Amino acid sequence: MLVAGNWKMNTDIKAAVELASAVVEAVGDSGKVGVAVCPPYISLSSVNDVLSGSKSKIKLGAQTMHHQEKGAFTGEVSASMLVSVGCSYVILGHSERRQYFGETDQGVNNKIFMALSCGLTPIVCVGETLSEREGGNEQSVVESQVQEALQDVEIEKASQLVVAYEPVWAIGTGLTATPEQAQEMHAFIRTLLVEQYDNIGNKIHILYGGSMKPANALELMQNKDVDGGLIGGASLKAPDFAAIVEAAKSV
Ligand code: PEP
Repeated sequence: MLVAGNWKMNTDIKAAVELASAVVEAVGDSGKVGVAVCPPYISLSSVNDVLSGSKSKIKLGAQTMHHQEKGAFTGEVSASMLVSVGCSYVILGHSERRQYFGETDQGVNNKIFMALSCGLTPIVCVGETLSEREGGNEQSVVESQVQEALQDVEIEKASQLVVAYEPVWAIGTGLTATPEQAQEMHAFIRTLLVEQYDNIGNKIHILYGGSMKPANALELMQNKDVDGGLIGGASLKAPDFAAIVEAAKSV
């Protein structure tokens, strides 16, 4: 089980430090559940100080990165920079990056290679829009997202991957996939991962994301192929985030 918080473009440095401290306190011992927080770039260093100065096992993640090693890419941040500030995870291909910043499956694929080569665990986001689901195309959309994002990613690196199924219609909307919808898609993603990586595909964490909150976390995570959550809104409230971690611990 893995529970990761995506803080998006929220919190200045002071607020990020306060939130990180509150999360450390509220989560306490996370047991076998992996936990990560992904603040904005400018707060990574300060949040890393909070995490590494505590007894907590909570890891640090970033929300995106550039696929090149270094160079003339004004405003961008590389994978090795993220490692140097203490990151273990990086979210790649979030639907907001795809929608507002033109991120493509090919671009996500490039970023996965760079993240893995630097030792970062990519959290690769996939998911269909409402019209794609209404048109009955949700599986074909997710299939091509998974296959293109993971194209040529070797089996030796596969155990470092995390996939997040985030139906776009459920992100930040208060709408959540039903446990049945989530399990159905997670099982489908699992078959794709097993086709590509044999038994290692069974071990790759598949997170659900999309309005997960304390009230629905358990019923979602109890499903066989739901291995945790990627949490947006509820990760900004330490007690809610901690309650989701508690739910993951109980599965
Ligand atoms: C997200 O953006 O990854 C997300 C799941 O957001 P929310 O929980 O707010 O729907």
